[in-house]
Amino acid sequence: MALSDLTTDELTRLESQLASEYDALAAKGLKLDLTRGKPSPEQLDLSERLLSLPGEGDHTSGGTDVRNYGGGAGLPELRAIFAELLGVDADRVLAQDNASLSIMYDLLTFSMLFGTPDSERPWKDEPQLRWLCPVPGYDRHFGITEALGIEMIPVPMGPNGPDMDEVERLVAEDPSIKGMWCVPIFSNPTGAVYDDHTVSRLARMVTAAPDFRVIWDNAYVVHTLTNDFPKVPDVDTVAAEAGHPNRFLQVCSTSKITFAGAGVSFLSSSKANLDWYLGHTGVRSIGPNKVNQLAHARFFGDADGVREHMLRHRESVAPKFETANAVLTSRLDEYGIASWAMPEGGYFIDLEVVDGTATETVRLAKEVGVALTPAGSAYPYGNDPDDRHIRLAPTLPPLAEVEAAMDVVALCALLAACRAAG
Ligand code: PLP
Repeated sequence: MALSDLTTDELTRLESQLASEYDALAAKGLKLDLTRGKPSPEQLDLSERLLSLPGEGDHTSGGTDVRNYGGGAGLPELRAIFAELLGVDADRVLAQDNASLSIMYDLLTFSMLFGTPDSERPWKDEPQLRWLCPVPGYDRHFGITEALGIEMIPVPMGPNGPDMDEVERLVAEDPSIKGMWCVPIFSNPTGAVYDDHTVSRLARMVTAAPDFRVIWDNAYVVHTLTNDFPKVPDVDTVAAEAGHPNRFLQVCSTSKITFAGAGVSFLSSSKANLDWYLGHTGVRSIGPNKVNQLAHARFFGDADGVREHMLRHRESVAPKFETANAVLTSRLDEYGIASWAMPEGGYFIDLEVVDGTATETVRLAKEVGVALTPAGSAYPYGNDPDDRHIRLAPTLPPLAEVEAAMDVVALCALLAACRAAG
């Protein structure tokens, strides 16, 4: 029966029953962690062969000796593989070092210090800088804009992308809004996939800032939980047709394909944007780690090699999501106090609990040994105004631990809801 339909007596009985269940859990001394979206050791093992690649004597690709300096754009062989996955021409993709987050940080710092190809002046010389942040979103995106002193404006995310009426209205009237974070496929943390209409509106919308940029973070472009891979929108073509060829800066990486923190990252955009980016990175480095890029090219072989590899990840990850979904459904469904969408890809589940109880749910879970991402972390400045969202990351722990941890999360959400209702 829904919690809201219970009488005061029934509510009190349920609460005391849950409280004793909770006390029994405390005695178990659990130590479970659902905080960060990291690959599990089992997933990392899928790429173990990479540690022996490219291998002694294998150091040349397309006439380039990968052991030496140079090649700022990255190894053509690997760029071609990821260009195919992103659906763009190989000369429109750069292969870089180990983290797409570093590319994103560079894109914003270069814009701050020097301006973009479309800027009248460096962004740091603008009187005010603002940035749109679909919420809930990725905490590390918000960390970058916050560190650079760019004011963040939340816009609500829906199942098919951000609220585009709101986005169009804001960017049309405010020239200080210089850009927007987007995770278009299996978004962090809701798993939402932007639909074609949203992509088209983002590409076409009129912005008051002439140098408006969308950081198109395709971190989960091949991270399917089903047997199908998502369609990847060709944002550059749509934007170029709309007269905004430099709008999108697309990034992705192999962090959750091979080794997190030791993979290869990619940037795809217009020629003008790539030339601008390379002009600046060419000052800070004499070229990326091409040995690791060659190792990745050898490991994958081609784009289908990446897809096959991701289906092996799926075998490891999908059961954890299914278990998480099953536990949450069996424990919470009847009470009507929480909602979540079972994603078809990516690394997270966004659990929405009763307003005002996310922080308390996370606290209760922590007290009995289950670590969750702090409530509010999916919002700019850590501020979820409704205190409603909890980001669950089921990939890292073994399946049995995911099950145990989800049981605790569900119990804590229900207990917090009961107390809030009582
Ligand atoms: N972008 C998103 C949306 C992520 O969720 C993550 C990691 O969780 C990253 C980027 C980090 O990527 P990288 O390891 O390439 O810096």
